[in-house]
Amino acid sequence: MADSPREKLKQLRETYAGQLPGKIGQIGEALDGLRLSGEDPGAVEGLIRMAHTLAGSAPSFGFTAVGKSARVMESLLKDFAKGGCSADELCEKAGRCIEEMKHLCDDLRPAAGDAPAGWAVPQDGDRGRKTIFLVEDDPLLSQSMALQISHFGYHAENFTALSELEGALLHTSPSAIIMDMMFPEGDLAGAKAIARIQRGRSSPLPVIFISNRGDLNARLQAVRAGGNAYFTKPVDIAGLVDRLDALTDGEVVNPFRILIVDDDPELANYYSLVLQENGMDTLVAEDPLEIMRYMVEFNPDLILMDMYMPQCAGYELAKVIRQMEAYISVPIVFLSAETDINKQLSAMSTGGDEFLTKPIEPRHLISSVSTRAERMRIIRSFMECDSLTGLLNHTKTKEYLDKEISRAVRQGSVLAFAMLDIDRFKSVNDTYGHPAGDRVIVSLSRLLQQRLRNTDIIGRYGGEEFAIVLAGADEESAAKVVDEIRLSFGQIRHNYDGAEFSATFSCGVAGFPRYGDVISLCDAADKALYEAKHKGRNRIMLAQEQENR
Ligand code: GH3
Ligand code: MG
Ligand code: MG
Repeated sequence: MADSPREKLKQLRETYAGQLPGKIGQIGEALDGLRLSGEDPGAVEGLIRMAHTLAGSAPSFGFTAVGKSARVMESLLKDFAKGGCSADELCEKAGRCIEEMKHLCDDLRPAAGDAPAGWAVPQDGDRGRKTIFLVEDDPLLSQSMALQISHFGYHAENFTALSELEGALLHTSPSAIIMDMMFPEGDLAGAKAIARIQRGRSSPLPVIFISNRGDLNARLQAVRAGGNAYFTKPVDIAGLVDRLDALTDGEVVNPFRILIVDDDPELANYYSLVLQENGMDTLVAEDPLEIMRYMVEFNPDLILMDMYMPQCAGYELAKVIRQMEAYISVPIVFLSAETDINKQLSAMSTGGDEFLTKPIEPRHLISSVSTRAERMRIIRSFMECDSLTGLLNHTKTKEYLDKEISRAVRQGSVLAFAMLDIDRFKSVNDTYGHPAGDRVIVSLSRLLQQRLRNTDIIGRYGGEEFAIVLAGADEESAAKVVDEIRLSFGQIRHNYDGAEFSATFSCGVAGFPRYGDVISLCDAADKALYEAKHKGRNRIMLAQEQENR
């Protein structure tokens, strides 16, 4: 690959800008043709398709106003096709759209400064990336989307014709397909092709439709064909990546962890097996007196507890567990042959969540355990994670920073703490609206999750502020990693409600052991961030540089 992605994107935009007058000219000619030929339905349909394609592609390359005119023209044509207006009326109004687009095209040629300044190269080449088949007959649009999703760890293979797709599927199985709806074969050709493909498979492929059409019929056809999501153009990349992540990550759901405390080993193993067969992880606590060790090491989502054991009673253990702040909400389900309701109730009052009587039917056991474990997972995520991004919240981030510092002290290793803040975010909200701002926050959180290592800790520190703990990294290497993310982030074009914009962030980095505790690390990173803002934003500052000034 001779050109960097940055160069490629720049070329794509330039190529598109160069082709735009030609595309508009062609539509103009087709309109003239229609004027001459009268009411040839084939010609009208061809023209609708041309206007439609332009309405989708122009905004994706920054020509929003051209896209709007094309959209107006498309609806005029459709109205005409239904007999809603005369050929003369159509030609007059559509002619005005053409003039307007030509005009806009002269004015709106992207300035050199619009071209991306630092399109970062995706991290690991294509190794370990998920392959997505991207089927879109507009080659420029499809290349641009491929570049955008490559920032988030996806490798796109582009197909401009439906026939190529079906051939490729014979020897490669992609993680998902992104499919356009309209092709020369017809207005719903994309959905028809997918329906055909899904019929021939034993398990369906995840499919996301992208289309200019937002009408119910197109959406219905997409659902019937087996589509999992539907986006109208210009496509919101952050939203698209969200769906791709959700659709392609299905297999890595963590199983529930169930701790079984029972003095009868045979019974314990039986429960264990039943739950394992249903996808849960189990651990049999052979010695109830070691309960605390099991809690720490296994970190269960739920405890299945026998009532009467020789060493101690189940309700006593429940009390002990409830007295530990960290385990105050772990569900405890008692399992016992005890049928005396008063005794059951008194056991519950010690902190049990449910009382199941032995013998229990496997079906009943599974459903009780999984419902409660699931609820526990949800409560836990509410307590620890930010609801918009799913990242750790402020408190948890600091807790993890503290833990990581202790670990670094023990191991004599280094760590870096970075604070990020989106630049001039208030004006993003003011210009494009709060929901658009939210999308920007989500896309930065996605990018961080994608680019950082699994062992790095990422938190949403405040509104548009993020914090990262990079264990084992010194300040310089952390700054380098974050700087690559900064470059990528600046290149993401956020589409919201027809508008297109980009955003940047500033960052301050401080390192342990130079700054030896949570307070001084946070303080140093915060000051460095402030300095980065002061120096003009969209940059990274190291705490020590700032101190040495
Ligand atoms: P600077 O470059 O100096 O950081 O400027 P700024 O505008 O980003 O900084 P400022 O702190 O003045 O404004 C931050 C704005 O972020 C104000 C607040 O309304 C907005 N904000 C905070 N949380 C959220 C959120 O969850 N969603 C959205 N959309 N906006 C948020
Ligand atoms: Mg800010
Ligand atoms: Mg701020």
